[in-house]
This record gives sequence, C-alpha cells and structure tokens, in this order.
Amino acid sequence: HEYLDVRDLKMYFPVTRGLLQRHYADIRAVDGVSFTIKKGETLGLVGESGSGKTTTGRCVLQLIKPTAGEVFFQGDDLCKLSAEKMRRRRVNMQPIFQDPYSSLNPRHTVEYIIGEPLILNNIAKGDAMREKVADLLELVELDADMAIRYPHMFSGGQRQRIGVARALATNPEFLVCDEPVSALDVSIQAQIVNLLEELQERLNLTLLFISHDLSVVRHISHWIAVMYLGRFVELARGDDIYENPLHPYTQALLSAVPVPDRKLERTRQRIVLDGEIPSALRPPPGCSFHPRCPHRMDICSQQPPPYIEYQGRWLACHLYK
Ligand code: SF4
Repeated sequence: HEYLDVRDLKMYFPVTRGLLQRHYADIRAVDGVSFTIKKGETLGLVGESGSGKTTTGRCVLQLIKPTAGEVFFQGDDLCKLSAEKMRRRRVNMQPIFQDPYSSLNPRHTVEYIIGEPLILNNIAKGDAMREKVADLLELVELDADMAIRYPHMFSGGQRQRIGVARALATNPEFLVCDEPVSALDVSIQAQIVNLLEELQERLNLTLLFISHDLSVVRHISHWIAVMYLGRFVELARGDDIYENPLHPYTQALLSAVPVPDRKLERTRQRIVLDGEIPSALRPPPGCSFHPRCPHRMDICSQQPPPYIEYQGRWLACHLYK
C-alpha cells in the first residue's frame, strides 16, 4: 500500500419518509472514490460545494464511518480498527477546518486551545505543555507571549495559525485541510497556504487539501482530484491540470481562475456552466455532468463514462477512449 491508500470509498446517507421512517433512498455523497497519497505529498481535492469533498475528508479521518470502502494508512485499514485503536491512531492524523472563528472556543486562552490535545492524549501538561505551546506558536510564526490571550483578540489569519498550531500539537504526519483559507481575505489566503507549504517541507507532512477554488491549491498540490457529485472526474498531476485540463468540468472550473499574466487574462475565456450542481439524491443518468456539459453527446445521457487511465492521468468522460 501507498502511505495513504483509499479504495472505492462510499458514503451513503439514508433518506427516510413517512411516519414509519421507511428508508426510501440514499444520498450518495461519496460514490466510489479511490486515490493514494505518497508520504510528504499533497493531493488537492477540488469541486463545487455539494460535490462530496468534505465528506470524503471526514471519511478518511473516520470522523464518520464510511458505508463501504477501505482507507489504508500506514498499512492498516482504518475502517476496520476498533474505536480505541482509532482514537490512538487519530493523534497522527488531524483536521484543519475552514472557519477559525467557530472552531476555537472563545472562552479559552490560546494556551489552552493549543495545549488541550497534549493534555487529552497524555503527551504533556504543566510547564512541559506550556513550553510545547510556545514552540508551536513559534512554528506558526506567532509570538509565544500571545498564549495568554483569547481568540477574539486575533485577526482571521492569526486565528487560522492558531488552528494550525492546535492541529500540529500531537505531531501528526497527515493533515486533512478542509477549505482552510476560504473564510479569509484573499490577501491573507496566500500567507496561510505558504505557511502550510513550509510546514509540510519542514515536518514532512502529508496533506489532503480540500478547496472549491483551483487557484488556492495550485502551488501546494502535487496531484489534483476534481470531484463532481460524489465521484472523481479527473485525477492528474497538478501541472497537467493547470496546463492541459482534459475533463470538461475541470476546464470549466479552471476557466474561472484568473491568470497572473495581464495579456492572457484579457483573453481568458470563461466557461459558464448552466445551473447548479444537481442533488446527489437524484443524480442525472449517464454522465452526471451531462446536463451542464458544453460537449455532451447522445451517449452521455445514456451511459456513465468509465473511469480510465489516460495519458498518465485518470478520467471519466466519453470524449476520451
Ligand atoms: Fe461531457 Fe459527455 Fe464527457 Fe460527461 S461524458 S463530461 S457529458 S462529454
């Protein structure tokens, strides 16, 4: 197995109705997703909201139990571990969430917020804990004497640094970053992504980096997976996605990303997709992207495209054989 090896992951949420709460359908939030991440690398996971990215991340961390599939991490299938074994393993795999405002308890000092995982996992307490918190603050480029302050005294960017410090407290090797910069001003976003990139190099971290915005994951991702309605539609090396996106959905997402070169930016053609992402309760037949696809053909509404290996990447689209 690779360092992280996810196979045919599925997460179906049952929908019930009527007085008897009869199960009548499933929301297929994640519907058969497979990927690997090498140690020290980043997989960027992109797609609109409702595509299943967040659910994928939560299933990988076993914050919710997937309906089916395997998640191998350091050789063990996490889905098969007992709750106790998983609790111990979780020290090594941590989430970083979108909203630093709501994920930090406003009544606790920064010292307690960052030190809590150390206490809970019997790693350090008292002076040893305080020392470790000071190191962690330094690691995320904040002053050690900020430890006695409360979250409301910090800017959004600083709060996310505190969130990163907390996530790193137990020395994890693997992080799931779920839209870690979406709540921040654009000018601050790059600082946090750069910080994560530096920390990755220094600590040899492995990242699953979830974002709805392809421009955010550009520099940090070795590989990028594009997700639509619970499935991967394209999985490729980062450079290949940006230089030569093949799937029509990837092309549309990328066309919304501004390019730094002014001349190119003026000629950038924006592909505007019709409508919203459909409900995962009733996905369209055939290729689930077909109602919005500018390239759809007759076959697209009739047969789902197979997910195939194509020129060093993975694709699900009838345009490629
Ligand atoms: Fe578009 Fe057809 Fe490809 Fe789906 S399979 S992305 S509808 S061309």
